[in-house]
Amino acid sequence: MKADKSAISALSSLIDSAEKIVVSSHTHPDGDALGSTVALVEYLRRSRGKDASGVICNSPGRDIAFICDGNGNITFHDSEPEKAESLIAGSDLLILLDCNGFSRTDSLESIFKAYSGRKVLIDHHMYPERDSFDLVFSETEISSSAELLYGILLRMDDVAMAPENLPAESAAALLTGMTTDTNNFSNSVYPSTLEMASGLLRAGVQRDAIIDRLYRSGSEDRVRMTGYMQWQRMVTLPSGAAYIVIRSKDIEEFRIVEGDTEGLVNIPLTIGNIRISLLLREDPAGYFRVSIRSKGDLSARELAAGWFNGGGHFNASGGRLYIGKDIASPDDAVPYVEKAIMEYLG
Ligand code: 5GP
Ligand code: MN
Repeated sequence: MKADKSAISALSSLIDSAEKIVVSSHTHPDGDALGSTVALVEYLRRSRGKDASGVICNSPGRDIAFICDGNGNITFHDSEPEKAESLIAGSDLLILLDCNGFSRTDSLESIFKAYSGRKVLIDHHMYPERDSFDLVFSETEISSSAELLYGILLRMDDVAMAPENLPAESAAALLTGMTTDTNNFSNSVYPSTLEMASGLLRAGVQRDAIIDRLYRSGSEDRVRMTGYMQWQRMVTLPSGAAYIVIRSKDIEEFRIVEGDTEGLVNIPLTIGNIRISLLLREDPAGYFRVSIRSKGDLSARELAAGWFNGGGHFNASGGRLYIGKDIASPDDAVPYVEKAIMEYLG
């Protein structure tokens, strides 16, 4: 990361002068969001002696829930709204991780927008909402928020560039977040990413245990469902696009739970001539969640921003397709996707 000494010392002073700190991240947290949150909360509590809590809008999927299992300091607004809101109201410093602003915090957005304490953003997405924060750490040429946070924590006086000085809980959560955001070291891997992995392994993080939890602890239902979706539902187009649309009735029939469809969007891209892949999943709240991945110099972000109310990274983006606004009924999702691809790829 770009080492900006004055920004690091400004963050350190904000931490020192805060009584209570809340760390938060984006809606439907992924491994990077949850891993970075746990890593920072544990650092603030164990190394800085602070009263720090993580507060995230919704509970994690089955695949990544282990990151905060048994950790009593992370609260989810969907399962404990009163506790979540009182933690925020009682805090005087808010640190938001892994999203470019409050617009990605769903049920917490209005609470955060009215927040009167100090606000810090630590993120690796494009277009950070700088005006909403007192201090911003934004870097896009980096694997993950976990890697950016690792760089910041290393530069704190008490860590002094030695990863073994991080609490073990933070070190493990950082490696987990970076591993999921790089899709296990296949995307967005920079020299600094491997340096981070090397530093954390030397500090004693058990990578095998993390890999077991992330990639070898799934359900049989999940393997059968992903196989079925690839075999029966994936549509490939001559333009080099592929898409899969998962409807509410599929979620019931295949017993899909949060986290089960994570990674499915990457599979069509393993086909040589497929350059962009979309996964749509119907959400009971009245929209389709959209994931988009692309290869090389074709932008996933442009498609997400232009047609799916979203954004993200150049090759990995997401958004939403609202039923009743963008499309009249869920049956219109497939024709909408085909039209969006045609307009985008020509
Ligand atoms: P995923 O497809 O894994 O849900 O998300 C991939 C990337 O797209 C992540 O970097 C995420 O932050 C971004 N993303 C996902 N959903 C949305 C969304 O609704 N709005 C915006 N702006 N970005 C999103
Ligand atoms: Mn991330």
